[in-house]
Order: sequence, then C-alpha cells, then structure tokens
Amino acid sequence: MASTPVQNPPTVDLVIPVYNEEEAIAVFHRRLSAVIDPLPYSFHILYVNDGSKDATAERLAEIAAADRRVTVIELSRNFGHQAALTAGLDHSRADFVISLDGDGEHPPELIPQMLNLALQGYEVVLTQRVEAQQAGWFKRWTSDAFYRWLNRLSNTRILPGSGDFRLLSRRAANALGQMREYQRFLRGMVAWMGFQTVILPYTPAQRIAGRSKYSLRKMLKLAADAIFSFSLAPLFLGISLGGVFLLLALMEMIYVLSFWLTGRQDTLAPGWSSLMFVLLVVGGVLMITLGIIGVYVGFIFQEVKHRPIYFVRRILSSKEDSTRHDG
Ligand code: UDP
Repeated sequence: MASTPVQNPPTVDLVIPVYNEEEAIAVFHRRLSAVIDPLPYSFHILYVNDGSKDATAERLAEIAAADRRVTVIELSRNFGHQAALTAGLDHSRADFVISLDGDGEHPPELIPQMLNLALQGYEVVLTQRVEAQQAGWFKRWTSDAFYRWLNRLSNTRILPGSGDFRLLSRRAANALGQMREYQRFLRGMVAWMGFQTVILPYTPAQRIAGRSKYSLRKMLKLAADAIFSFSLAPLFLGISLGGVFLLLALMEMIYVLSFWLTGRQDTLAPGWSSLMFVLLVVGGVLMITLGIIGVYVGFIFQEVKHRPIYFVRRILSSKEDSTRHDG
C-alpha cells in the first residue's frame, strides 16, 4: 500500500470543534492529554471555538496558556459544526489529522489505534459507532433511516453510524481541503473522495456535560444538505411522480373515450369530480417538482456566491511558530 511519507516522529493535528462546552472542555482536555502524552508522535491540538456564547473562550485560553501544544482558532460567529471542522482542517499541516468532538462522545482512547492503522498506510480511518445505548430511540431510529435512504438515493456510500470522528492522511486532508462547497456534509465528502479506507468500530461514551447542540432543526438541515448535495434522486422523484400521474390521466381519457365510442356518453356522471381530481393531482405533482427544483436552485444560489465557509476572528497559540496556523 502506498502511504504518504511521514516525518519522524510523525506529526498529528487534532481538530476539535467546540460550541458552548464550558463545562466539558477542561475535563475533555485532561482526558485527551492522558491518552496522547505517552504516545511517540508530535501532537498539535487545534480547538475551533465556533462562536460560543458561554465561557468556552476563557476556558480554551486557559488551556492554551498551560499547554504549548494547543492552538485556539476563534471563529467570528457560530458557523455550525461542519464549518468549524473545516476551519480546523484548513489550519492543519501535520502528517495526520484527526477530528473529534469536544464533548467526550468520541473516545480519545481510540487515537493510538487510528494512528497505527494510518502508519500501516491507510489514508482514511473512519470510526463507526456500533451500539448507541445512550442515544434515545428517536435519534437511533432517525439516524438508521437516514443512512438507509441516503445510500439508496445516492451513489456515494456513507457508512451508517459514522460520525465526524476520523483520521485523514495529509494527502486525504489536502484533497478534502480542495472541496470548497458551502453545503457541507463532511461524512459524504470523505466517502466521495475515495482513498484507502479502513473502519474502526467503537462503543460511544456519554457526553461529559451539557446537551447535544444538534437540535431537530439542525439535524433536518444536515439531512437536507446530505440528500440534496449528494443526490439528484429527488429531482427524478418529481419527474417520475409526474409521469405516473400523466399515465393515470391517459388511462382515464381512454376510459371516457370508450364510453363515447360505444354511444354510452350519457351514462357518464357529470365530470366535475373527476376533473377536479385530475386538476388537484396535476397541481400537486407540479408543486412537488417545483419545490424540489427550488431547493436545488437555492443550493446553487448559495454555492455561486462563493462565500468563505467561515471567518476567523483570532488565533491563540502559545507556540512561537504560531504563523504555522495562520492559513
Ligand atoms: N459544535 C460546533 N458548532 C455547532 C454545534 C456543535 O462546533 O454549531 C461542536 C460541539 O461543541 C461538539 C461537536 O460539535 O464538540 C458535536 O456537537 P454535538 O455534541 O452537539 O452533536 P452530537 O454529537 O450530539 O450529534
């Protein structure tokens, strides 16, 4: 297997997006340090503060002051988990870059195994949540249904139960960095890229503190980003629905014509209800199709603006070579 050449010791960037994690972040950092301290790699930790409204910025500044490996990238506002991850990835330069959540749901204890796999030559190490005991049945059910349908609708196969806890080689990270679309669904984008990939299963841990920041609205937005930016199937759905209803209309015409041809037209009930039915059906199909096209046009509109995915407010680093991350 051809692997990316690495430095000795290999450098590793850890990208951790955080949003309102004032209670969890210090505990998380201690847990992370306990895992990485004994490892024979040169680690750099990039915390991306995604416009937190609580005291996360102060906690991160304290962590950065005490730990020379830490850099804090503060975004100008809350851009969302996927944009924050992108900011961190953009600022990473190491041989390997690992992204994980700052709330303890992604066990840092997996990092040594991920790095072992990377050293064997895998360019992408995906982790897979195997049993989500803590997640409620609703989240589990919606997540299962989501992956089943997404994989049915698009050609890009996305691993069910895979989150944004993964390792990328420099080559894979650079490739991902070239993908600048605004509607971002990193799991799908990483699957789309290809590269030698391996899957590492794990059992999820409970959040250290705080609540999930993915409200139902945010989850639906992520699902829409995933479906509409990874598949043209909804467009075809509109077209097929239209086709089915046109066929129904044709059959009805033949049926009515048969009454006329056999001279039984007077036995036909007044056509108001059937006309109304057809009108409503056709109107419905048109509206669905237009709606689907509308969503795509909206997405195109967002993309053609070519806006940056995030803005950095400032970068805090106790390292002398802080320029390294001024991308
Ligand atoms: N997060 C973020 N920006 C947001 C929402 C979340 O940077 O707008 C961070 C959050 O602090 C956490 C990670 O992204 O480290 C995952 O978020 P969360 O735990 O809310 O999602 P879940 O794991 O519950 O799906």
